[in-house]
Amino acid sequence: MTKRQSASQSSGTTEEYKFVEHGPWITTGGKQWCFSCGHVALNNDISRWATKVGCYFREHPSFKSKLKKAGGK
Ligand SMILES: [Zn+2]
Repeated sequence: MTKRQSASQSSGTTEEYKFVEHGPWITTGGKQWCFSCGHVALNNDISRWATKVGCYFREHPSFKSKLKKAGGK
């Protein structure tokens, strides 16, 4: 049994991740994007992930690490 250490649950943060499905979807120039948060559904790993986790993907705990992987910096 391994205990997972939860990263500092700071109470100072204003935004918190919660699942809100994207939509309504707008199609512009063959690209689909979410009218609520502006997320564009692209055919790459981070975009597919963001589509899955919903409009608050930027607040998701793994967003930063996803961004790092995708950014290649
Ligand atoms: Zn959205």
